[in-house]
Amino acid sequence: MATLTETVKKPEIRQTQCFIGGNWTPAASGKTFDTINPATEEVITQVAEGDKKDVDLAVKAARDALENGPWGKMDARERGRLMYRLADLIEDELDELAALETLDNGKPIRDSRGADLPLTIDCLRYYAGYADKIHGQTIPVRGNYFTYTRREPVGVAGQIIPWNFPMLMVAWKWGPALAAGCTIVMKPAEQTPLTCLRMGRLAQKAGIPDGVINIVPGFGPTAGGAIVKHPDVDKVAFTGEDATAKIIMRDASDTLKRLTFELGGKSPNIVFADADLDAAALGAHVALYFNQGQCCCAGSRLFVEDKIYDKFVDKLISMNETRKLGDPLDPETEQGPQVDQAQFDKIMRFVDIGREQGAKCVSGGKRFGDRGFFVEPTMFTEVEDNMDIAQKEIFGPVLSVLRFKDTDEVIKRGNATHFGLAAAVWTRDVNKAHRLAAELKAGTVWVNCYDVFDAAAPFGGFKMSGMGRELGEKGLDAYTESKTQELLELRSIW
Ligand code: NAD
Repeated sequence: MATLTETVKKPEIRQTQCFIGGNWTPAASGKTFDTINPATEEVITQVAEGDKKDVDLAVKAARDALENGPWGKMDARERGRLMYRLADLIEDELDELAALETLDNGKPIRDSRGADLPLTIDCLRYYAGYADKIHGQTIPVRGNYFTYTRREPVGVAGQIIPWNFPMLMVAWKWGPALAAGCTIVMKPAEQTPLTCLRMGRLAQKAGIPDGVINIVPGFGPTAGGAIVKHPDVDKVAFTGEDATAKIIMRDASDTLKRLTFELGGKSPNIVFADADLDAAALGAHVALYFNQGQCCCAGSRLFVEDKIYDKFVDKLISMNETRKLGDPLDPETEQGPQVDQAQFDKIMRFVDIGREQGAKCVSGGKRFGDRGFFVEPTMFTEVEDNMDIAQKEIFGPVLSVLRFKDTDEVIKRGNATHFGLAAAVWTRDVNKAHRLAAELKAGTVWVNCYDVFDAAAPFGGFKMSGMGRELGEKGLDAYTESKTQELLELRSIW
């Protein structure tokens, strides 16, 4: 991968304020918060700290844009055209946006340039194509009635996103909302507001009318909470922790908002002895360590068949030993820092707990370097199902390797969690592959692959990993209301 030019390496920070009704404004309180470079622990810049007052203004702007502005009357194909234009503008600034994402989040530039940006652009283009293809039905009811359904925008969509894929999460939320004709009030994560704000500027440049997209940076209980409780927000789409989703569900109950949740996981990744073991080992490595382990669908419970367990663990250890940690702006770097001090501390606590509860730390387990929130790629073997490191979401580069003997047993143990986001199976036996794909309780099951994402394929969780689906045609459901219209047909009396 080509090295970045010095200009791109130090992207100019242009947007740090709230984006409301097409205007860039300081928070009403005048407050700001720091956003930190996790690789150096230095402050990058200060960002407006929005709260209830700013959310009130943003919701008003979004309602106005929906009901009185050009957006509500715009034909669907034109909406799609503006979305394509937004995707093109992001593509024009790909290197700079990737560097900004890396600066604010810490993820290696090879990932932000090779994965986050292309997936963001692809998602927006995918949904741009849907804008004029959101159809209702004609329904043959009893009697002389002509009955049909229309799919109308759900209205003002509140969208609250996490820090692990800041730009991609924007695309997953804006894509279906804009295609359906909704207007938006978004709150980016407090750790990573910069690329979301830049995308706001690009949306403006693309010609998306004022007030259609509003962005209020700030903290969860204040800015996020105000979105959730606001009586004029019709729907909330949230990605983040299950504990936060429970608060949101309670806070949204007074206004009975439509809710969709994309939450965490403790996904089983199951390797049978008959698999292509080199491919499976690489798959298991990527499944956990990609994005510093900060993936909701990370393959964090690795089940390895007993007879290949030791050999397989050796392969994984050698991959960890050659994994390149360091400056995330270096194109050779494979692993950057965790996003912040709080995540770093939480992960190191899990490493201690793993040791205390009797698992064996066979790789990593320490801080890397003396500056930045880096954690060595860490692996525990001899992990038992009831240990905390096998039960709880660590959201860091800590892999738990468990042993299994037969298929029935591993299906049961794989499903023995309140999560159900993703799962994977590695085998050459097609019958076994189909059986596990059917019996594992997860929103996505990968067979002989991992982390395969496409804007066209629905993604979301069973059980406490979520509610509803994002991406694909299914992802539009959450942003439309179905309206049934019935007309008395006069044909019979003519
Ligand atoms: P988090 O729940 O703490 O924060 C997510 C967002 O919610 C942030 O913007 C935060 O400010 C906001 N928030 C916090 N408290 C709030 C409240 N009371 N009301 C409204 N908003 C509030 O999660 P996080 O630590 O930022 O992200 C990590 C989690 O996200 C992990 O559990 C991970 O698995 C999950 N995640 C899931 C997916 C998915 O698609 N399923 C994708 C990415 C991350």
